Amino acid sequence: MKLHEYQSKRLLAAHGVPIPKGEVAETAEAARAIAEGLGGQVVVKAQVLIGGRGRAGGIILCETPAQVVREALRLLSSPLKGLAVRQVLVERAADIATELYLGLTVDRRAQRMVLMASSEGGVDIEETARAHPEALRAVPLDPLIGLRPYQVTRLAEALRLPRTLWPRFNSLALALYQSAQANDATLAEINPLAVTAEGDLLAVDAKMIVDDSALFRHPELRSFTDPDETPVERLEREAGISYVKLKGRIACMVNGAGLAMATMDVIKLHGGEPADFLDIGGGAREERVVTALRIILTDPDVAAVLINIFGGITRCDEVARGIVKAIAQAKPQVPIIIRLVGTNETEGRRILEEAHLSTAPTLYEGARLAVAARKGGNEHLG
Ligand code: GDP
Ligand code: MN
Repeated sequence: MKLHEYQSKRLLAAHGVPIPKGEVAETAEAARAIAEGLGGQVVVKAQVLIGGRGRAGGIILCETPAQVVREALRLLSSPLKGLAVRQVLVERAADIATELYLGLTVDRRAQRMVLMASSEGGVDIEETARAHPEALRAVPLDPLIGLRPYQVTRLAEALRLPRTLWPRFNSLALALYQSAQANDATLAEINPLAVTAEGDLLAVDAKMIVDDSALFRHPELRSFTDPDETPVERLEREAGISYVKLKGRIACMVNGAGLAMATMDVIKLHGGEPADFLDIGGGAREERVVTALRIILTDPDVAAVLINIFGGITRCDEVARGIVKAIAQAKPQVPIIIRLVGTNETEGRRILEEAHLSTAPTLYEGARLAVAARKGGNEHLG
């Protein structure tokens, strides 16, 4: 889950990262009140989940509350880089002397978190990594030991930070690390990390991504959920289903990612195209099957559904009950072919047969039936 700048800043500040004083507003009038409370020059920042807002006109320095109202109104009434702006962050403007970059991310190859720093902050860091890789320093972190002060000192030296700032840089980097750990973040970055004219360090912009698989441990982050999430995305997140929409017309519902890929292959072998990749996961209970079928059937291109379940921990009778219930609720207009083998398969088949649903003996046969059913119907999409 990507977090907005103001949300990321709250999580970072809770662990001691210095951030500018400010608040988020949903209306221009609320923005004015915040600006008046802060006094002096402020910055109005569009809250959208995309970088490069500055260049796109989403970050504006304002001298007066009247200007704040105008800019907030403008930002809140039109999309920025194609995304609706629901909130603006109004902060006391920072007097920036230098812009640095400081970020924590996962290095999959090293199988650990890395702390990265660059003296070329404020700009697109991927671009810096490409054009001037030497300007980006990375320190891999041992997951058992965590971030040690000597590692931060090395970065401070590489950045040519004045020695007077080293202690503050050290506590800031540790606070960044602690916040990322505490929130199960896969990314936590401060860009720019400003050295102010007064000689302080300040996180002027922040971005965090929280690992979706760890969200269950963070009920306090529930209110951070994106209101622009689509109904399908919400169902997916709440039910723990992985769903990727594809271009074909044969929908699949499978337990396990590997089996889902094999199912897609066999559909292709028979000349069909999968409409989605859907993994209901291990040990899927009745409710999750109902949700999965609802998700599949929201796609108007679906011409046939192939359900392929290999019962291990997942019990076929439980899945069968979910299928019967889901079909009763969703009343699909397309043929459904079910292949169900493994734990409790006899009971599962009996439940399906009682509901007048037909099963296929093998995946090969199931895919063949699904492709044939699709061809019997609408043919224009493939
Ligand atoms: P981004 O473009 O989405 O990354 O948004 P940022 O918050 O990083 O802002 C972009 C740039 O605007 C920064 O790199 C700064 O140069 C500038 N900026 C943002 N906030 C302030 C501020 O409070 N004071 C000053 N002087 N510049 C700012
Ligand atoms: Mn930025």
